[in-house]
Amino acid sequence: MENNIRPADLSLSLKARVALEKYVFRFTHSLGQNFILDENVIGDIVYAAGVQTGDNILEIGPGSGIMTAMMADKGARVLAVELDKALEPVLSDVIGERDVKIVFQDALKADLNALTREAFGENAAYSIVANLPYYITADFLMRVLSLSPMPDSVTLMLQKEACERVMSQPGDKNWSALSASVRYFADPEVVMDAPASLFTPPPHVDSCLLKLHMRANRPLNSEDEKRLMNLIQAAFRMRRKTLANNLSASFSMSREETLVVLEKAGLDAKVRGEVLTIDQLIDVMNAIYH
Ligand code: SAM
Repeated sequence: MENNIRPADLSLSLKARVALEKYVFRFTHSLGQNFILDENVIGDIVYAAGVQTGDNILEIGPGSGIMTAMMADKGARVLAVELDKALEPVLSDVIGERDVKIVFQDALKADLNALTREAFGENAAYSIVANLPYYITADFLMRVLSLSPMPDSVTLMLQKEACERVMSQPGDKNWSALSASVRYFADPEVVMDAPASLFTPPPHVDSCLLKLHMRANRPLNSEDEKRLMNLIQAAFRMRRKTLANNLSASFSMSREETLVVLEKAGLDAKVRGEVLTIDQLIDVMNAIYH
């Protein structure tokens, strides 16, 4: 029987598998290369991210490019940042003629503000979508919180443990500088569970899709936001110490000065930083600087 399938007719999933084999691609564990090659799963992620015609999307780690191509097919303008140059021919085969910009750089080092400005325009709205390499999770999330302009939303496939950390509340054992920082800037939501079996090769842990709905109206100006971020780092620095001790260590304050700050913020002198809510952390920041 005649085989009428031409490369252009292949599903994205098949195209990706063919290209990975053709270019003898070897998955690198240390680069977090656990791909999702199932188009239906990628379709669910793109749907959950709410990608629509006319959207500007920054994707981190496009891998084989299935999600990149699918978002372009939805009518989005996609800028993808990939570290591994070995994926260049694979991405080229899978993405084909689609209007996508791929930059081969480290997402932790690249000037993401400049790249998005260049790709989308000055102050243009954009969102981030990624099946993130897990080793960059915390550093990348902190980078996202310092972007300007901030993305409208951030949809990330993360290890389940990282999702739980971000979703934790004050007083939980997982409540950390990362969770507090994210909660100031965004409302996090878990939109999908993703068992390890969905990935190629499967990682040792399950994942979930986290969506950060970035707050449009935040209470602080940018200078106070930087102060708040520094204070959050300080408050969680040494977990079993009191906030007063951590403040003295991080801000070179005398014991008396820290007690004045805590009193001004309406807090007990023995309170620990890791139990404070965002509003209380803001009160402490105000008590120090205003
Ligand atoms: N998006 C693809 C998918 O869903 O199949 C691949 C996801 S895979 C979990 C992570 C991707 O991020 C890989 O393509 C990997 O090469 C890339 N990567 C790893 N470290 C990176 C970094 N520092 N900056 C940008 N991309 C990176």
